[in-house]
Amino acid sequence: MDAPVDVVGAGQRSAEPVRAAPSVAVARSAAGDRGGPRQFSDPNASWGHRSAISTRKGGGFYGYKIHAAVDVATDLPLAWTVQPAKESEHNFARMLVTKTMRHGFNPRTLIADKGYDGDPLQRWCMDEGIAPVIALKDTATVRRGGTETPCCEHGQWVFSGADYKRKATKWRCPTGVCTPASVWIKADRLHPLIPRESKRFKDLYRSRGAVEREFGRLKHEWALLPLRVRGIERVRLHADLTILAKLTCALARTRTVAVAA
Ligand SMILES: [Zn+2]
Repeated sequence: MDAPVDVVGAGQRSAEPVRAAPSVAVARSAAGDRGGPRQFSDPNASWGHRSAISTRKGGGFYGYKIHAAVDVATDLPLAWTVQPAKESEHNFARMLVTKTMRHGFNPRTLIADKGYDGDPLQRWCMDEGIAPVIALKDTATVRRGGTETPCCEHGQWVFSGADYKRKATKWRCPTGVCTPASVWIKADRLHPLIPRESKRFKDLYRSRGAVEREFGRLKHEWALLPLRVRGIERVRLHADLTILAKLTCALARTRTVAVAA
């Protein structure tokens, strides 16, 4: 079912040399305390919510959130920001991806969970030549079958490519008997450039684990947590130093390998 994708117009945004075209996953992670203000008195911190993961219940916490964009091939953070816990992830996805572009990367896909689902982010990604791979919120339109793809008496139509410039996907009758035998569908949140049912979408979405793994390592192996400083500027400095130390080590390792080879 998973036809090869014609990538037309992607990656032609800039004439500058492009260092890499990664798939970038964005996510946020709690940095704070369930105990609340008494245990964690900080004028810049705020209440936020974190979702449950395998070993931990979800719920409220007090402190900050770290929002990051991670390259899923290397698990390395490309951009990050620390914000009060109450700030929604919605506000930072674009900023993080813009930062990665300013750092010389040219992201081809943006992978995110349904916390980031929404028309504006989807549209912005496509304007930037980025294919959004974002989980769908269970909205009324979705429940009404808004994500359905064309079909006919011969069966479900087959995805046969995407045009990133035109922001549309092409579908064709499985037998080719129908006239017209193929149609273009305007890409949107319900019908993304990489179809949700495709193996490619599922594989990319699964690679979102990179960002969760990276948060785990930063917290537990690189001493991002527990926070021992207060005030957003200091917390930001702590996060910057932690992540830069990690990136420096990764760079040193790459250079050692390059010299040895
Ligand atoms: Zn047909």
